[in-house]
Amino acid sequence: MSDTSTPAIDITLLGEPQAGDGMAVGASAQVAKAASRIPAGDSRTNIFDLDRASLERFFEEDLGEKRFRAQQVMKWIHHRYATDFADMTDLGKALRAKLEERAVVRAPQMIFDKASEDGTHKWLLGMDPKNAIEAVFIPDKGRGTLCVSSQVGCALNCQFCSTATQGFNRNLTTAEIIGQVWIAARHLGNVPHQRRKLTNVVMMGMGEPLMNFDNVVRAMSIMRDDLGYGLANKRVTLSTAGVVPMIDRLGEESDVSLAVSLHAPTDELRTSLVPLNKKYPIAVLMDACVRYAQRKRGSSVTFEYTLMKDVNDQPEQARGLVKLMQEFDRRVQMKDAAKVNLIPFNPYPGTRFARPTDEAIRAFQKQLNSAGMIAPVRRTRGDDIDAACGQLKGQVMDRTRRSAEHRKHLQASGVSDAA
Ligand code: SF4
Repeated sequence: MSDTSTPAIDITLLGEPQAGDGMAVGASAQVAKAASRIPAGDSRTNIFDLDRASLERFFEEDLGEKRFRAQQVMKWIHHRYATDFADMTDLGKALRAKLEERAVVRAPQMIFDKASEDGTHKWLLGMDPKNAIEAVFIPDKGRGTLCVSSQVGCALNCQFCSTATQGFNRNLTTAEIIGQVWIAARHLGNVPHQRRKLTNVVMMGMGEPLMNFDNVVRAMSIMRDDLGYGLANKRVTLSTAGVVPMIDRLGEESDVSLAVSLHAPTDELRTSLVPLNKKYPIAVLMDACVRYAQRKRGSSVTFEYTLMKDVNDQPEQARGLVKLMQEFDRRVQMKDAAKVNLIPFNPYPGTRFARPTDEAIRAFQKQLNSAGMIAPVRRTRGDDIDAACGQLKGQVMDRTRRSAEHRKHLQASGVSDAA
């Protein structure tokens, strides 16, 4: 789920190119170059693909070694950022040689890194010779949040989302998802349990995480593992457009915070913004959210609401939203079980939507506050490097027709797609 709140003012371009449509001309060549360092036809196991349970199985069943070796290796990789088995000095020489033969520690390739003076970063990461995704780090008072991507592009086609205009190529592997965390943590000098710079992860980058369930759940397990990044359950948030059956499965198999991109209080409006609503309308989605909250007693669900001028920012929509949220609290039997995040729309080239005025945003928020709801307005950060919510774009070898259609639309409207 592409999030729409990400940072930065005073951005300095540290690395390579300004991205046109997320990618600059030269960046495309760099994707191929960066990713070509990954040897083709390499059948070794990438340790980044394995959470603690599967790594223990790998040591025991595939290598015939003791399970506790998995713990040593995890610490080397996620706490000390080692990728070379030769550096893992508390493993015997024979085991290191066996690992060299059977496994690799391979993270995505960093293509460029844009940084702001306030510490905000956006990374373009090469995943294979043709595809790249973006991850964004947002520092704030006492916390540092990483926005992580789950797919190359997205198939869901939410109408207000920049990622959607690029179409879809494929799901990211567990290694490619946790690799984003690893790259950010290493860059920040993060030391789990000691010098913690990365305190929160939101699965809100490119893609719909619940359409890539197994890989995302495994990566989130490494994020929360003490031998991984040691993040508390409530500090890892999965944001979904509302894939109802998978919300139930997530409730059974994981323990993370749930955020749902609602954006509208009625089916008619929501279907026009989030086509998935046709399959899982609001009532069905809210039922799933109630079941999730009931399973995780005491935890809330966050409802994201991107405010778009004259589309969903009117008093009647605020009233509809209040009703939905109050009904949710009543069913979960907990005050403030539903939290609302208001996200002013972040424009991108060729979009037909606009950001409401500050006055309209405040008026909408006031209506929610008057009904007793806490509804913070998310500060827009990073819009000048296209890192704000809903603006993330990497390089996607589109397997749908959507990116071609978007380009045609831009040409017809005489809009430049360069950032
Ligand atoms: S199309 Fe929808 S689900 Fe996909 S990334 Fe964009 S907002 Fe998220």
